[in-house]
Amino acid sequence: MDYAKLAERLLPGDYFPPEHYEKIYPPRALPSGAEVTRLAPSPTGFIHLGNLFVAIANERVAHRSGGILYLRIEDTDEKRKVDGAVEAVKNALRYFDIKFDEGAEIEGAKNAYAPYYQRQRAEIYRSFVKRLIACGRAYPCFCTEEELSALREKQTAEKKITGYYGEFAACRNLSEEDIYRMLDEGKPYVIRLRSLGNPENKIAFHDEIKGDITVTENDQDVVILKSDGIPTYHFAHAIDDHFMRTTLVIRGEEWLASLPIHIELFDALGFKRPRYGHNCSLMKQDGETRRKLSKRKDPELSLEFYRREGYFARAVKVYMLTLLNSNFEEWYLKNSDAPLEEFKFTVGKMGKSGALFDLDKLNDISKNELARLSAEAMYDFLSSWAREYGTEMQKSYFDDKAYMLKVLELCMGTAGKKRRKDFTTAKQGVELISYFFGVSVRADDYRVDGVTKKRILEEYSRTFDYSDDASAWFAKVKEVAAKLGFAADMKEYKANPEAYQGNVADVAEVLRIAITGRANTPDLWTIIHILGEEKCRARVERALAEEV
Ligand code: GLU
Repeated sequence: MDYAKLAERLLPGDYFPPEHYEKIYPPRALPSGAEVTRLAPSPTGFIHLGNLFVAIANERVAHRSGGILYLRIEDTDEKRKVDGAVEAVKNALRYFDIKFDEGAEIEGAKNAYAPYYQRQRAEIYRSFVKRLIACGRAYPCFCTEEELSALREKQTAEKKITGYYGEFAACRNLSEEDIYRMLDEGKPYVIRLRSLGNPENKIAFHDEIKGDITVTENDQDVVILKSDGIPTYHFAHAIDDHFMRTTLVIRGEEWLASLPIHIELFDALGFKRPRYGHNCSLMKQDGETRRKLSKRKDPELSLEFYRREGYFARAVKVYMLTLLNSNFEEWYLKNSDAPLEEFKFTVGKMGKSGALFDLDKLNDISKNELARLSAEAMYDFLSSWAREYGTEMQKSYFDDKAYMLKVLELCMGTAGKKRRKDFTTAKQGVELISYFFGVSVRADDYRVDGVTKKRILEEYSRTFDYSDDASAWFAKVKEVAAKLGFAADMKEYKANPEAYQGNVADVAEVLRIAITGRANTPDLWTIIHILGEEKCRARVERALAEEV
């Protein structure tokens, strides 16, 4: 068969030779050891925790080695494209401090390996497809969807591996006459790789994360160019990672199954392969079983979830690093105040198998991280969340900064001393402090009966004097307790609990719920003095007016 003639028929016209692309996309002038990594999302608009997991690894590897992290948009599948997706990816990653040195929509960068949208690279892919056809390594396939699904069914029924390979690759050995006849008839076609692999052969492969593994040689005649003239992911991956001079591909382990195809494509194209590291998946404990996080079942898979809930980006990053690098936790224990960039992230310490993602662990880390902020930094964190996601009411909390700082200082505890750990996320935090603003909403129920509650509040109001200092105020609360049959002294109460209705803490709890709506708060006297006399009296009055 005259392959050159066939290539000209399928992709007519002049295409640049490979040397042209080698010249315009030359090897990068970087110091030795510098890694070039990338993030290559599809523009579906859905960016998830798995992407962040891989992004952090790629970012760390590139920047720790003095290399480059770039953003490539894999938009070969037009159907999945969503408007604004690239902006969404960039914003989501920026929140977690992932910065790209070049790539799609990265302003201010040289972007010497552009374009970074695959659809804009169609010419490059086609020129290499044409060459593969011309040397007999690729061929047109006219099989219809129906024929392919019939083939799949037949293979499944016969318990054979499904796909387009060997004896099943009907168009692989079409005669020249048949090919030209179908082309003349205008039958749609795709271009497939003519695989030379044999699944009996095993290839020893070194994965930078998984270590030494064996993969089976590919024998699938995979599609490389679709009928619309756009390549498949596999082919675009080989071309782009070669010409963008990627040195290390860190990607999700779901791609491990495609590795044999990629190995064959790089060989067929005569390109040196980048190194690969296949990152373990994020798993979730679901009852007795461990399963992959799922888009349908787990809202925490979406990165949007973390921003909407107001997770502190550093906390998420700390947790991701804990899962990514086995020695991070120990380092962090000793270096909690250091910039995370100082951690010596290494691919060698990345987990080989599924990392268990646990939201409770993340929440613990978040509490610790937030407890270390200054009130001023907490103000910035909460207010920027409220600006984007809060209600109008919540936004207004931040109008009086001095007042909010007082609230935060109380709710966080004094810097240098043992801090409170009440804040987990911005959303929860803003809800938690809502009683300092507007009217308090009762979140917790009284544990005493209605009559007792009423008597406590009445007695309290009778003697309450806003100008009392903390100890005078508490002495009065004790008096209320004693008067109503509650132990004023904890020691006495413990020695003889039956003798009392309860103790002074129970009395204080009633006051707390009446004034703040909550059974647990920081120091109540201070709260009263932040709120002011009028509001406190009004809240006690309102609680008194509640139905018994
Ligand atoms: N477009 C692929 C994805 O979104 C990229 C995989 C890779 O990193 O090579 O999963």
